[in-house]
Amino acid sequence: MTSEWVPHSNNKVIRFQSAEADPPPRQRFHGPIETLGREESVETTPAIILQEKELSKRIRLMAKKLTIKPEERKLAAEIINDLVDQLICFLRNNEKYACFKEVKKLTAGSYYEFVKISHPDEFDIMLTIPLPRIKWTEVEAFSGVLYKLTVSRMPRNDLKMFLLDDCETISPLKMMEELRTLIKQFLKTSYKGCHKNWKVKLQRKAQGSPAVTMLLQDSEGEQDISIDLVLGLEVSQKWPNCTNDGMNIDEWLGKKTKGDLKHKPFYFVPKHPRRRALSEDLKETWRISFSHIEKILMMNHGSAKNCCERGAAHCCRKICLRLMKYLVHVLKEQYPQELSKLYSYCVKTAYFHSMVRRPKDDQWPASKVDECFLNFLDDFIEHVEKSELKHFFVPTYNLFDSKNFAQKNLKFLLKVLKEQKANHILAFAPPEEHQQEALAPQSQHLLVKLAALFVIFLIFVFFVKIFKMFYQ
Ligand SMILES: [Zn+2]
Repeated sequence: MTSEWVPHSNNKVIRFQSAEADPPPRQRFHGPIETLGREESVETTPAIILQEKELSKRIRLMAKKLTIKPEERKLAAEIINDLVDQLICFLRNNEKYACFKEVKKLTAGSYYEFVKISHPDEFDIMLTIPLPRIKWTEVEAFSGVLYKLTVSRMPRNDLKMFLLDDCETISPLKMMEELRTLIKQFLKTSYKGCHKNWKVKLQRKAQGSPAVTMLLQDSEGEQDISIDLVLGLEVSQKWPNCTNDGMNIDEWLGKKTKGDLKHKPFYFVPKHPRRRALSEDLKETWRISFSHIEKILMMNHGSAKNCCERGAAHCCRKICLRLMKYLVHVLKEQYPQELSKLYSYCVKTAYFHSMVRRPKDDQWPASKVDECFLNFLDDFIEHVEKSELKHFFVPTYNLFDSKNFAQKNLKFLLKVLKEQKANHILAFAPPEEHQQEALAPQSQHLLVKLAALFVIFLIFVFFVKIFKMFYQ
């Protein structure tokens, strides 16, 4: 017996059930669908319709909840912009490191892509520095995402102090150390304070993290904002060869857009592999980053240029992404150990693949967020099932490879995702419903037992009566 979610001709999501040994081909939502074509096999008992209505309501309610209030967005943006602008000014005017004189702010990450879930309390900002011509070498076993960077010829003085002893390798550790020192100095000597009642401090260095994190706290200690500052080395050369087969957006956003994007620079961020007992050599690696392109893809996401603009048709792409991020967030809180390698970047990558799979705007209508989310969830489950989630820009790198995600944990993820599907996305239910639904199977079990006892009792009475009839 198999079951899956399909859109019904009356625009309701219903569960398709089949008793065949092999599952039927996957039915997916590809824009308005006229008929399902096998309605005779579909169970539409009142109980199931009721359940699907409940599911639809649950998804829609959660979609509403996950929208950040405009006033929260405004306050956070004011505070952050003020602080970061002051920092940029300080870095540009510093005497010691000439390379920071050309530093720029690149706002990336979920907040700036408008797909942040719940509170706007974490920000990612890349501080970019343009590089002279460099050479990059892939670090073996990391399929095109990790690199060693070397200067082509002895650079101007501004990069010299960040080279290793070989006088050619650019050291991420040295650069981050100096950036951290400069930010410390900025907060001590130059920072004029930001929005009233907010204090700022530097967070302790986190092992393996490429970011310098600033923490902001309001005077009542009720609200925290964290800003992750990541250094990004801007490279204005042709993208590495391993990206040639990536970013397949021809059908979705068009060949021209793809060509234009590939002419933009790309970035290297100081990030080494997340492993224990790392060799000194592996600590000096850079990770390729396309977060600026990701932001563009997120903001200009429609096959029609004006998708989601005022007066134009609206889609549910970003809402679906928010819903999936929230689902993953809840699951990670429940199973922190098993799902420790399930990063939000996995969800974002799966989102881009789903965009390519269903590239047209009418495949993501705002009115059908429930169906579209369930399709997206199916896509995600498929990636987990196949242990394959290719990096969107570097397809040689598989985020669900056993080196990146232990297969037993991936199996566990598959199990919990399927459970969520079977239980009408329990993660989206209010807490009181969690308890009810958790109890439901037990109470159903009890009812079945009582019914069986009652039937046995009736049979017993029947036989007693027959016995009496014969022997009276
Ligand atoms: Zn849209």
